[in-house]
Amino acid sequence: MVDHSQLEPHVFAESLLALGLRRAAFIHSPSTGLTSSHPELEGLGRSLLANTRDYDRHQAVLLEVGEQTGVLLGAFLHRTKRGQGIGGVRLWSYGSLGDFLSDGLRLSKGMGRKNALAGLWWGGGKGVIARAPGRRHEDPGYRAQLFQDYGRFITSLCGAYVTAEDVGTTEPDMAEIHRATRYVVCVPPSVGGSGNPSPATARGVVCAMEGALDQLGLGPLAGKVIAMQGVGNVGGFMVEELLGRGVARIVAAEVSETVARAVRERYGSERLQLDVVAPGDHRILAEPCDILAPNALGGILNPETIARLHAKIVCGAANNQLLDQQRDALLLRERGIAFVPDFVANRMGIVNCANEQYGSFADDPAIVRHYDSNWDGSVYRVTRSVLGRAEQGGITSTEAANLLADELAEQPHPIFPDRTSAILTRLLADGWAKVPGPRLPARAAAAGTGRR
Ligand code: NAD
Repeated sequence: MVDHSQLEPHVFAESLLALGLRRAAFIHSPSTGLTSSHPELEGLGRSLLANTRDYDRHQAVLLEVGEQTGVLLGAFLHRTKRGQGIGGVRLWSYGSLGDFLSDGLRLSKGMGRKNALAGLWWGGGKGVIARAPGRRHEDPGYRAQLFQDYGRFITSLCGAYVTAEDVGTTEPDMAEIHRATRYVVCVPPSVGGSGNPSPATARGVVCAMEGALDQLGLGPLAGKVIAMQGVGNVGGFMVEELLGRGVARIVAAEVSETVARAVRERYGSERLQLDVVAPGDHRILAEPCDILAPNALGGILNPETIARLHAKIVCGAANNQLLDQQRDALLLRERGIAFVPDFVANRMGIVNCANEQYGSFADDPAIVRHYDSNWDGSVYRVTRSVLGRAEQGGITSTEAANLLADELAEQPHPIFPDRTSAILTRLLADGWAKVPGPRLPARAAAAGTGRR
């Protein structure tokens, strides 16, 4: 049986076409387990099952070869009882189909948890687009075609997945997707969307910092020292929020001279020390401070960096800060450093755009309550609850957050319970995966049999 997971994504896309296919689906049901849409892809289904770290009985993995670009497009759905899957679409370069699938699985699971903890009536969803080799994605014409391909793919899923902006994609890309589907959020304000989510994300992270400080009995943000890695879209607005709350000092590192200059010009203050550093320079992580805010990169907390931290709390916007969720959460706990899991702190990006179809207006109470320490579901209160549960249960904050999120993810949507299952069942019964692709010549067919 062919194991396609070793193929490069674009070679896999060619091999699907060579088999006369354009789509593939892997669907999990509690009664039958995982089923593949095509017998030729059962080996790939098996490799999904073998990925014990990321697979976790995902409800659906849906793949399509882009109509105009031939690029591999993916949508991943995990735990959709609370509602259809929602989460951003990532445009990234992957060495193999296995890496592409792992990323989608891991990210959709994380989104399901983030959405549930934020109290959103949405399930876990993530999109992934495998960037074609070379630099074509920088060409605006090609990019428009690519995101329209993605929009058509999303339309074909009839609302099972709603997409949004993520790493490698921009607001104008969402506008291109929007030309081909209604199932996209984070679209520009000019077409009725909520626009840039970064100010909301920054404010949410600052609320999480306040929750963590209060839970530890360390008082308000005023007078505290904050170390920050990255002052980009989120980090820049975070500087503004923190200065506004009277922090004593922000010590920040940024790799981009242009970004650093813009932040200095916008928020210049003697309380802000902002240095431009080389990409491999992580000395900021060792800065003595009350709170360390990683706002740049994933995987930044690992045995080597954790040993050097001089912070009481780690709370930042970057996704997947722990290189290894279990090991590194334990290391932080052993060092007595309170860690606010990123999906607890950075929820406001998705909260800000998830419910765009209900309308949006300034100071919307449905958004503003997330910043309010009196609302049970607010960032502040959930942060306290997660750190409190961890302390009481003798577990890490990541475990506590996962447990709470997994409980919440089991709550069915009050009006449309199991809507995604209904959509998927009908789609597959109607032959969604059987849409034929153009048969390709022998080179690609060879790839399809794993002879490459
Ligand atoms: P961004 O690219 O605008 O900002 C990241 C900044 O970090 C950049 O300016 C970059 O130059 C800098 N950087 C990279 N490597 C660095 C290093 N080694 N040292 C110092 N600076 C470095 O991205 P963003 O939108 O601000 O998002 C930041 C993080 O937050 C990402 O991980 C993102 O996935 C996550 N996030 C963002 C949002 C949002 O609303 N934008 C929502 C949720 C999560």
